[in-house]
Amino acid sequence: MKTVSVIVPFLNERENLPVLYERVAAALDREPEAWELVLVDDGSTDGSAEWAEQQAARDPRVKLIQLSRNFGHQIAITAGMDYSRGDAVVIIDADLQDPPEVIPELLARWREGHEVVYAVRKSREGETWLKKFLAASFYRIFHKMSRVKVPMDTGDFRLVDRRVIEALRNVRELHRFMRGLTCWVGFRQCAVYYERASRHAGVTKYPVWKSINLAWDGLTSFSGAPLRWVTGIGLIFSLAGLLFALRVVMGHLLGWSDTVRGWTSLMAVVLVLGGVQLMCMGLLGQYISRIFEESKKRPLYFVRSVIGFPSAADSGAER
Ligand code: UDP
Ligand code: MG
Repeated sequence: MKTVSVIVPFLNERENLPVLYERVAAALDREPEAWELVLVDDGSTDGSAEWAEQQAARDPRVKLIQLSRNFGHQIAITAGMDYSRGDAVVIIDADLQDPPEVIPELLARWREGHEVVYAVRKSREGETWLKKFLAASFYRIFHKMSRVKVPMDTGDFRLVDRRVIEALRNVRELHRFMRGLTCWVGFRQCAVYYERASRHAGVTKYPVWKSINLAWDGLTSFSGAPLRWVTGIGLIFSLAGLLFALRVVMGHLLGWSDTVRGWTSLMAVVLVLGGVQLMCMGLLGQYISRIFEESKKRPLYFVRSVIGFPSAADSGAER
C-alpha cells in the first residue's frame, strides 16, 4: 500500500494542532493510501510540542521531529522532508489556512501521474491588505525576474512525489525558498485551486518584515537580475555624466559658462551619486554575505529528538 506523509511545520500552534489532526484524519481516512502526520516543532514554547508528543503516543501515525531551536519555516519543512518516507508528501501549514480537505484533490492529481501538485490561492481571507499587496507584487516581480517560473499566488501548500523529495534532498542551500526549489527541480507539475481561509487561532508567525526577508531570499537565490539592474543604473548615470561634461566644456569654449554658480547642482549630483553608489554596494554586499554564509557549510538544522522514526537524532548536514 502507498503512503502519504503530511508535513506540518509549526511554531507555537497549541490551539491549532488538535483541530488540524482531526481534520487531516477525517480527510485522509477516506483515501486508499495509508498516512502519517509528520509534525516538525520549530522551537515552540507554548506546549504544542508536548501535545504532539502525547498525540504520537496515542496514535502511531503521528510523528514528531523536534528541532533544537527555531530555524524558520523553510528549514522546518526541509527537516520534515528529510525524515518523511511517504510515496507522496504534502506540506501544509499548522494554522488551518490551507484546508486539509483539499488534500484528497491533490492526491487525485498525483494518482493521475503528476509529481508536483501545487495549490493556488484563489482568495486569501483574514490577512492585512499590506501583506496581500506585498505578496501579489512579489509573485509578479519574481515572475519577471527569474527564469524559474514559480506559479503565482502559491504558498508552500502542495503535494510532492517521492522522486521530487529525493531530488530536493540534494539541495542543501541555507537560504531556502522551497516553493522556488520545488519548481526549479522540474518534473510533471500541475495546479489545484482553493480558497485560503483565515487563521483558525493564534497570530501569524510571519510579520511583514519576515515575509519581506523570505521574498528577498527568494529573489536573490533565484535571480542575479538585481546585479544587472545595478549595472544598468551605473550605465545611465555614466551617460548622464558624459552629457553634462559635454555641456560644461561647450559652455566654457562658447563663453556661456556658469562655473561660478552651480553649487546647488553640484550638491545634488554629489548626493544622488553618493546614494546610488552606497545602494549598489549594499546590494553587492547582500550577494557576498550569502556566498559567505553558504561557504561555511553549516548543517541546516539540529534535531533534539524524534518520535515515530527509526533513526536517532541527526542533523541537517547529512544528505
Ligand atoms: N512557522 C514555523 N516557523 C517559523 C514561522 C512559522 O514553523 O519560524 C510555521 C507556522 O507555525 C505555520 C506556518 O509556518 O504553521 C506558516 O506560518 P504563518 O501561518 O504564521 O504564516 P502566514 O500564513 O501568516 O504567512
Ligand atoms: Mg498562516
